[in-house]
Amino acid sequence: MDELTARQKTYPVNVGGVMIGGGHDVVVQSMTDTDTADVAATVAQSKLLADAGSEIVRLTVNNSAAAKAVPEVSRRLADLGCNVPLVGDFHFIGHRLLRDFPELAATLAKFRINPGNVGRGVRHDENFATFIDIAKDLGKPVRIGVNAGSLDPDLMALKMDENSRISEPLDSEQVENQALVESALKSAEAALDIGLTPNQIIISCKVSRFPQMVSVYRELSERSDFPLHLGLTEAGMGQKGIVATTAALSTLLEQGIGDTIRASLTPEVGGDRSTEVRLCQDILQAIGLRRFRPAVTACPGCGRTTSTLFRELAQDIQAHIDEKLPEWQSRHKGSESLQVAVMGCVVNGPGESRAANIGISLPGAGEEPRAPVFVDGERVKLLAGPNIASEFIEMVENYVETTYGDR
Ligand code: SF4
Repeated sequence: MDELTARQKTYPVNVGGVMIGGGHDVVVQSMTDTDTADVAATVAQSKLLADAGSEIVRLTVNNSAAAKAVPEVSRRLADLGCNVPLVGDFHFIGHRLLRDFPELAATLAKFRINPGNVGRGVRHDENFATFIDIAKDLGKPVRIGVNAGSLDPDLMALKMDENSRISEPLDSEQVENQALVESALKSAEAALDIGLTPNQIIISCKVSRFPQMVSVYRELSERSDFPLHLGLTEAGMGQKGIVATTAALSTLLEQGIGDTIRASLTPEVGGDRSTEVRLCQDILQAIGLRRFRPAVTACPGCGRTTSTLFRELAQDIQAHIDEKLPEWQSRHKGSESLQVAVMGCVVNGPGESRAANIGISLPGAGEEPRAPVFVDGERVKLLAGPNIASEFIEMVENYVETTYGDR
């Protein structure tokens, strides 16, 4: 029997009906950036994220107004038919908010605590215990979310001090890695001592640099079987954030590490918050862990095709899939596994088109102006003339209708 991956060995945790860990599918989650006290805005953005495919949505709960708003946010989402589990993100005063607002605690599907900012010394232990006690009494799971930017200063000082006394001291990043892992695992042990079960604990240790993240999560995975929440924190904007997030998450996921993921992209002003959800889905789909939507294989084009027809067709096909996706998802079970190829010339066109469910090999420079279409590996038609695009899209539509059954 094959050895179990780290992901298969983690404890399963139930977050409002969504299973994290224990070999379940890697869960996509996201976080709102609205003022949680603004109920209308928070409902709208939570719905946007859930509709995009976020299976869990996290909200900041940073004050009494936010704490009071969360139950109403949940009710309004339910009225809209959206039952996505809501997670409360707490810092500094989470223990008080959960204690003072019982309806908040009852509404949330999971609580996130950052052990680096719940007080220091005895106060830290008391506040932490209050927080965990509430989770225990309500049977709620907790994410122990350590962050390099808010690492427990006492622990970091202790680790630096210990490091200075060994014969071959580690560099500061290695010491920080040790402190991050130790903070998470000690906090998890403390939560178990207070009465949480292993099936109520998820761990994260977020840093903003890819090599450090990989190193920390490998260590966490080797030293515990708690499900791991992956995220490269403060990944940044635009292409930089997308590339850094993709590199970090893919590296760990491919090694079997990570049970739930979030992409911490900085959206442009007025940008679409749900981009972070689609990035997570695209990462999971690209490495073959989950399927969310049909895939379009298109060649990059080169000097063998001077026409822009294939690029336009690839764009049109992608736009058609994006538009039809909600309908296909609700009507045609399995259509998310559809593979379409749009290729630029005879060099790789027929081969890639045969390998797809449905593919078209457009004519390159100097080729006959005809485009063979392949369905499930067989050449079934030769398209020509000005309507190649619309005729091919119609064939894709027919393929979906006839191949994937009605739900
Ligand atoms: S399939 Fe043809 S047009 Fe496309 S990249 Fe390859 S050689 Fe160039």
